[in-house]
Amino acid sequence: MSGETPVPTKPRAEVRPEDARVLEAYELRPRAGHIPRATSKMPVAEEPGTDTPWIGPHGEVMERLELHLTYHCPERCVFCSEEHRMAAYHPFSVTWGRVAKVLRLHASRGVKSVHFTGGEPTIHPQFIEACTLARKLGMRTSIGTIGTRLADLDFARRAVPVLSEALFSLHGPNPEVNDRMTRRQGSFAQTVAAMRNTLEVDPDFDLFVNTVVTKLNVDALPDTVALADELGAKLIIVSNTTPEGGGLDKYAELGLPLSKIAEIMPQVPPRAKRAIVRFFGMPMCLLRPYDLFSNDLHWDPRVTVEWASKPGKVVFEGQYNWEPNRKRQLVEPCRRCSRNGICMGVYDRYAELYDTSELRPYGQGEADPG
Ligand code: SF4
Repeated sequence: MSGETPVPTKPRAEVRPEDARVLEAYELRPRAGHIPRATSKMPVAEEPGTDTPWIGPHGEVMERLELHLTYHCPERCVFCSEEHRMAAYHPFSVTWGRVAKVLRLHASRGVKSVHFTGGEPTIHPQFIEACTLARKLGMRTSIGTIGTRLADLDFARRAVPVLSEALFSLHGPNPEVNDRMTRRQGSFAQTVAAMRNTLEVDPDFDLFVNTVVTKLNVDALPDTVALADELGAKLIIVSNTTPEGGGLDKYAELGLPLSKIAEIMPQVPPRAKRAIVRFFGMPMCLLRPYDLFSNDLHWDPRVTVEWASKPGKVVFEGQYNWEPNRKRQLVEPCRRCSRNGICMGVYDRYAELYDTSELRPYGQGEADPG
């Protein structure tokens, strides 16, 4: 019948009491090795579409390298997007010779900055040497870290001079919330100590924070951001749970409902007194009035060098991303949205499972975010 509102064919995502059960499966201990990693058959990596994949669709040269230095990590974060890759590839070591070769190759092709990631990059035995070589090759150096070895002041004194910036993982405003997310007792204290050490070595250091938000820590997010700001973060990235690895296995328990994004994210920027805030992996329209803080508007293309499966072998090679659309898609409400060329929409797994009618498409007069 005409005039009737169509009935959604999928349920709305919501926070349910049973979601918290994913955190109750294992007790927290100072070492998290008793928590097994979930395994999954790794897909065969795609072949590059051209002989020069480091040249982009508009003739631009790739300038940012992400290099996975390790496939080990002392934490067992419940949402870990690298969980399956760590389980599959930890037997293959990323040797110093391999690291040096990748850095030299990509420097020669025009890369200007490297972000070392993992696993936990600071536990690579030649971590300092990797940063030092990258600097000699003219690159800015950055890491994504839970802190680990930087919590040792002597190590921080050697690492900070060869680092341009560090992105620390902080997932709660206190040990109760943070350590439930990382599933290791002592994680919060270690990360905070590492952050303080970097600023003790260099008070002007570019200290950044990445906080991953799930259904189970989202209500504490404004306090987490306030703490990161107090600890001296210049940039705070608020990352949605990515449906990949552990985040995919437990997406029903962890994935943020759109209603929670719309409720909580606008409370976040006012809690950062000094830091710049960016929202990663979230629909732009639900961030209003802070939609210009969407990372979709501030993202840089990158080549990610990591282990990947090919028929009959495993290779350490680059995957090129020129758009911030990994695992994301535009859905029905986006079709009439004037920003559907600059916003990457919702996660594909979310669209598969849930109703997306809570999106608030922009009208024609709102196309330019300024
Ligand atoms: S309606 Fe879709 S394209 Fe428009 S801002 Fe929202 S998520 Fe992005």
